[in-house]
Amino acid sequence: MSKNILILGAGESGVGAAKLALTLGFTPFVSDSGKGKKSLLGELKSLGIGYEIEGHNPKNWASSSTVVKSPGIPDTARILHPLRENGAEIISEIEFASRYSKGTVVAITGANGKTTTTALIHRMLTDAGVKATCVGNIGTSWARDIAERKIPAEVTVVEMSSFQLDGINTFRPDIAVLLNITPDHLDRYGYSLENYSESKWRITSNQISSDYLVYNSDDLEIGKHIKAKNTKAKLVPVSIEQQLETAGYHSCIGLKKKEFTLHTPHKKPFSMAIQELALQGKHNLFNSMAAGVTGRILELRNESIRESLTHFEGIEHRLEFVATVNEIKFINDSKATNVNSVWYALECMETPVIWIAGGVDKGNDYRDLLPLVKSKVKHLICLGKDNKKLIETFSELVESVHVAETATDAVQIAYDLGTPNDTVLLSPACASFDIFGSYEERGFKFKQAIKDL
Ligand code: ADP
Repeated sequence: MSKNILILGAGESGVGAAKLALTLGFTPFVSDSGKGKKSLLGELKSLGIGYEIEGHNPKNWASSSTVVKSPGIPDTARILHPLRENGAEIISEIEFASRYSKGTVVAITGANGKTTTTALIHRMLTDAGVKATCVGNIGTSWARDIAERKIPAEVTVVEMSSFQLDGINTFRPDIAVLLNITPDHLDRYGYSLENYSESKWRITSNQISSDYLVYNSDDLEIGKHIKAKNTKAKLVPVSIEQQLETAGYHSCIGLKKKEFTLHTPHKKPFSMAIQELALQGKHNLFNSMAAGVTGRILELRNESIRESLTHFEGIEHRLEFVATVNEIKFINDSKATNVNSVWYALECMETPVIWIAGGVDKGNDYRDLLPLVKSKVKHLICLGKDNKKLIETFSELVESVHVAETATDAVQIAYDLGTPNDTVLLSPACASFDIFGSYEERGFKFKQAIKDL
């Protein structure tokens, strides 16, 4: 095998992969068609790792049998054709890192709830005194974590997107957590839910009979895969809709829906009141249950799990309470970049809503939102460049529709429309890139505008 590794993309995962490759004695070279980030390029420079930016130039590339591709580059990208023809193995940074990881691996995927559940599981482990690390889509790349860590983590909790799963070959988590499969990123999957669903299911594709698959047994799309029985892992269903009667590990809602129970083989079940959970809302109930049952598989003590689930602080930009101004409540849910996450946000709103939505539509079908918008939303403020679809879908259901081009305008319009007891909810159902650099920037600007009121 050649000692050269070509890395496509100079983002966090690419630079992490380059760093790990160097530590392992390979010769990495990083190529990015964009400008790259100053701090990350500086890191490459200081390590003496070769790189090019603002264009891929194969003439600069030494022959490499392994290519680590950024999740941002689609599998269909033209630049990959000659590499494939030359027999290179094209993998994701997750696949690359997993080959050098020691200890237990918990991997979390789903259309929504990945970051929340990853952070919950990580918090549970560290609260229990386990040396755990938290990597992947959530922030630090796994490769960087391995390269920089002196003592390997006992448990690595990895948040994985479908794009990262597309680039795995042998990656095998000890525990896989599959939260839900609802439409997202369909523009990258030929507008096919089936293709996206296949991609998510890859999380269990290499699992063996001693591994566990924690999954949402209320999710129809996941149900299809379970029915087809194409996993070897032990099944750990989680349901917020019904009481499950399966043997082995599972978690389900109580009869009166006021508590949930974590079931563990040969041990007394452990129940917890839903009200005790730090994160409220149906979706977070599910996330907490999935994290809790994972904690049981990892043999954490019940009391420790209870403590962590009770005291977990929410994560920024996810149904984050910002402020109440003149009795109008403002909530920042900028990370709600698809229809399903907005469904859960609207579902848990208890007062009339002034809804701020819009941005880059990733192939949205808004039909699921119609009943909730009809019953809960008073006014819609579109915060995007192309708002046609939103306006067409919802204008009949709300009292008024407005268009804003900045977060400041959106907040001001919402404030002017608001009356005491209303909730202004930024939950866009869309990506942010038409107006903002990221969903974080959109959330920050929204919060700043509220402060400036
Ligand atoms: P991800 O990392 O998968 O994008 P996050 O935890 O960052 O998920 O949450 C993203 C958005 O989805 C937020 O608006 C959040 O309120 C919502 N959300 C969180 N968990 C779930 C879930 N289990 N089902 C649906 N929506 C969820």
